[in-house]
Amino acid sequence: MYKERRIVPKLESRILDQKKKNDDLNKHLVKSSLSTSKGVKKDKVSSMAPSSVLKHMDRHDQRSLSKNTISEEEFETESEESDVSGSDEDGTSWISWFCNLKGNEFFCEVDAEYIQDNFNLYGLSNQIPYYDYALDLILDVESTMGEMFTDEQNELVESAAEMLYGLIHARYILTNKGMVAMLEKFRKHDFGRCPSVNCYGQPCLPFGQSDVPRSSKVKIYCPKCEDIYYPRLKYQDNIDGAYFGTTFPHLFLITYGYLKPHKPLHSYVQRIFGFKVHKP
Ligand SMILES: [Zn+2]
Repeated sequence: MYKERRIVPKLESRILDQKKKNDDLNKHLVKSSLSTSKGVKKDKVSSMAPSSVLKHMDRHDQRSLSKNTISEEEFETESEESDVSGSDEDGTSWISWFCNLKGNEFFCEVDAEYIQDNFNLYGLSNQIPYYDYALDLILDVESTMGEMFTDEQNELVESAAEMLYGLIHARYILTNKGMVAMLEKFRKHDFGRCPSVNCYGQPCLPFGQSDVPRSSKVKIYCPKCEDIYYPRLKYQDNIDGAYFGTTFPHLFLITYGYLKPHKPLHSYVQRIFGFKVHKP
């Protein structure tokens, strides 16, 4: 059985082995990236597996955290107890389940139809190990093939599915439907707000500094000061920036031009005893 989400208790028991799992997948990915060019650095591979943090979050916790109300300290002291149960009984799709995991708040739900169209997935099969199985997992396609896999291989398929979903997501959010889904999230401030005082809490957009997986973690882009920042919550900046890409926020702001705010009216002025600091 490689449909791990359907056999959740088994998955939970493996959480402590998550690091090993990521390491193993990394080895596979390094191999595959070597064979498919791009020259990705080995030490950056770990960014592709946000699940290491996410999967052991209680669904309850996920909801309570979804509005950015928890501090990083609270997150760090959270128990290691896991619970992703319920996802298999209540008919939730893998995509909804994944997008509702803590730390995955930046992801929108990609239309299954979009994923089913091979044209949209062109070129991804070379980048993802266990591609077919990962795709089946994302689309909730039952398969008996996975029963032949070892636990370790099942875990690799899970991680591969996350990476595949991320890379599909990066493409999807540049389409009309994807933009609409992200617009909804932007309006709910799901991507956080600009930390600059002069931006007065301007909602931000997710952004990747590279379109190549495992190159950098996700950042947020402020449309007002036009600068990029680390996501406020620690577990969000574990996500690969390539799952959002370099184009998205800028295309989004062209598409929805009315959302583009004016630049900040004031910039911070340094003063000592009330006098402006002289800049040579
Ligand atoms: Zn700003």
